[in-house]
Amino acid sequence: MTTAQEHGGDVRLTGISKTYGSFTAVHPLDLTVPQGSFFALLGASGCGKTTTLRMIAGLEEPSSGTVRLGDQDVTALPPYKRPVNTVFQSYALFPHLDIFENVAFGLRRRGIKSVKKQVGEMLDLVQLGEQARKKPHQLSGGQQQRVAVARALINHPKVLLLDEPLGALDLKLRRQMQLELKRIQTEVGITFVHVTHDQEEAMTMADTVAVMNGGRVEQLGAPADLYENPRTTFVANFLGTSNFIEAEVAAESGDDLVVKAGDCKLTLPTARCSGPTATGGKVLVGIRPEKISLTHADDAGRIPEGRNRITGRIADSSFIGVSTQYVVHSPVCPSFEVYAQNIERDGRLTPGAEVVLHWNPAHTFGLDAAQDVE
Ligand code: ATP
Repeated sequence: MTTAQEHGGDVRLTGISKTYGSFTAVHPLDLTVPQGSFFALLGASGCGKTTTLRMIAGLEEPSSGTVRLGDQDVTALPPYKRPVNTVFQSYALFPHLDIFENVAFGLRRRGIKSVKKQVGEMLDLVQLGEQARKKPHQLSGGQQQRVAVARALINHPKVLLLDEPLGALDLKLRRQMQLELKRIQTEVGITFVHVTHDQEEAMTMADTVAVMNGGRVEQLGAPADLYENPRTTFVANFLGTSNFIEAEVAAESGDDLVVKAGDCKLTLPTARCSGPTATGGKVLVGIRPEKISLTHADDAGRIPEGRNRITGRIADSSFIGVSTQYVVHSPVCPSFEVYAQNIERDGRLTPGAEVVLHWNPAHTFGLDAAQDVE
């Protein structure tokens, strides 16, 4: 049984920022990474996620702010004095040492003679017990990455920092390693902070995801919450595909807002609108493509009451295996296209067909149109 003290407590960044000359890579940010969590910093290239990670590691000096680990202010500590370790995308294994010695390296450097048991346990943890006497070049990319993780964990850091650790792997191996890293994190129970630009990776592995954009955390939350309730178009688009409809709040009705887009009235839960909720407020109504059903206009009478509806015409359709993707142009929302998926096969749903797009209003979210125009 391990204690909170052994695990180091939360990582707490307060007002942390980084500027290079006149360029601000990370704007002052406050972030708490709960102890024992799998935390992902997610964003496009250049958004400041690696810089943030490197400030936690001590590899980059913050321009302002503090880094705390539990009760300890580590801002002024050099990397080797912090109870953290980093795994990089380039595994940085020693090519001339075998796997056992690569993993043992940190212990030997600290003068520990008897390393067999600890290294053995660590190799078992990453399921490489059988490979101990091989050299790095004799292992696959995924196995090499697991050696790098074992080598980083052997010193019992309180926080493991992972900087795009799966970036060099092909897609299939990447997916396997995501599950593997999650398993290892659950087993060792320490905090993992993982940098990635791959939304699926962040969603698969992390308990909490911080979506970064332009040196700021744009939204923070559990993966499902970010997906279901994005507060900006950037977050909505980064975590999958969304359709957006420009609309104006017409009325509030119970727990819902009724909004008007052209001649079309749509309903969305007030609680899921991060934009204005007063009458006349300009909102962007968002709906994920997989929530939308598509019905031929001739069958519109069969659509149950109470669903949001938009009429349109199929402009394009493409079969993509598990589903068919449709592009629908809608006269009530000019320049609006819908990518509707998971539709039951209907031979009439071909380009040119008149259709009704419809969905459960509960799946709709609303954004602040004024704030969100990119
Ligand atoms: P990537 O996924 O490409 O690594 P990132 O989100 O991790 O991107 P950072 O590496 O944190 O981004 O870089 C953030 C910004 O700071 C980038 O615009 C980068 O060019 C800039 N930057 C990073 N390091 C330096 C430096 N030493 N000097 C000047 N600018 C830098």
